[in-house]
Amino acid sequence: MKHCQYFDTSYVCDWLDEVAKTHFEVIVSCLLPHPVEYARVGGFWDTLCSRTVQIKEGLNCFFCLVPYDVITFEIWDYVMPYWLEAIRTEVPSEDLHHLKVLLNKSFDMDLCPLPFGTDSDKMYHFISERFDDSSAYVQEQALQWLQILSTLDIYLPIHMLLSMFISGVQNMTELLKQQSTAEPESPTKESKPSQPRSFPQNSPEEECPPPLSPAKSHVVVEAFEIYDRETELVLPCYIMMLDLILKQLELQNFPKYLGLYNETSRQIMQLLTLMLGTRWDGTHICSDEQQANSCMFCQNTALWHQVTSQVMQNFCPLSQVKIPTKEIPRVDESKRLSTTPTCMSRKSSVTSNDDVESTAGEKEEECPGFDMTSMPLHLQLHHAFLQELENTKDTDAGFALLTSMKYLILNGECLNYTVTQFPEYVKFSLSKYLIPK
Ligand SMILES: [Zn+2]
Repeated sequence: MKHCQYFDTSYVCDWLDEVAKTHFEVIVSCLLPHPVEYARVGGFWDTLCSRTVQIKEGLNCFFCLVPYDVITFEIWDYVMPYWLEAIRTEVPSEDLHHLKVLLNKSFDMDLCPLPFGTDSDKMYHFISERFDDSSAYVQEQALQWLQILSTLDIYLPIHMLLSMFISGVQNMTELLKQQSTAEPESPTKESKPSQPRSFPQNSPEEECPPPLSPAKSHVVVEAFEIYDRETELVLPCYIMMLDLILKQLELQNFPKYLGLYNETSRQIMQLLTLMLGTRWDGTHICSDEQQANSCMFCQNTALWHQVTSQVMQNFCPLSQVKIPTKEIPRVDESKRLSTTPTCMSRKSSVTSNDDVESTAGEKEEECPGFDMTSMPLHLQLHHAFLQELENTKDTDAGFALLTSMKYLILNGECLNYTVTQFPEYVKFSLSKYLIPK
């Protein structure tokens, strides 16, 4: 197969076409990073070389077949996961740059010679379908593939990436919900928690035959070596997603400071709200503030907030709204004010909302009378941030969270724009979450 570029084109095309139709599995088995024995003939298979060189040469042969229309969408979709998995597990990160030119050429949306190369949904289907899976393990593997492509400066379409992640988070949240119903008690307690879903022992690509030589080296630390439960991997996946988005926005010189009212910002806000929508799972090994540095769950929580504040900075407008100078009431004056009728009217409006609460479902308990899911996305995110603020004890996480809120409220003017539309919600949320009782 690998020598077909030396043959007469028309003859080879007809022959390959025929073989592809009748022997799909034979073609595919020759195109894998660990091809079947009889396909390991000539070229680099006859020399002793590093696994990186084997993978590079193998990929090169694979891409040489593209002009002959052998690489159909079905073949690409089947074979690429094996290649990326081979790169992930067998190519040391310092060798990754050897594959840069090759992979850039094949994943380039403008120059790609693949027959479906202009259709990003098809080209990345083998990755996006992994975000339809609720397994954090499967999603983390796909995120690592995306990281490899991103490290090699390959442009990943931003909207496609965001759609993938939104569906990924929606699916992983199911895992977290299952976990919280299976284990109602707090996962922070000392005793070793039960394992409702443990990591699969084998990678999803385990069925591929092992390479002959040189010996397969273990170049990655797998998630199941670090975390006890699969649900603990959800938060690291969230961080990887946001980190990938930041890297791609930067790489592609994507316009910054777009504000809240555009499709990209909307997708980002939806993603963040979804991530905050379900309680994260993790095991605290810290008992007090001093040990938070050594607690991986605390570190991951702070890291999520830090990356999120960078994301917020990226799409919220650059300049802050100018707040009109107002005299701040003195404490004794505010005490006097608290008995005035103005405040009473606020209280009564909240009371009337409480009446609605009795008919509202359990979900709205946090915010009586308001169906948050029908609110604009920026208010949903605002609400999610406020709830998170109540639960955040760690100073690093708290600082980053307040920074994110500053961008949303002062730069994005999320409340300023909606105060006339949803005055009751704005009053309620400020009085419940921001005014000390
Ligand atoms: Zn902790």
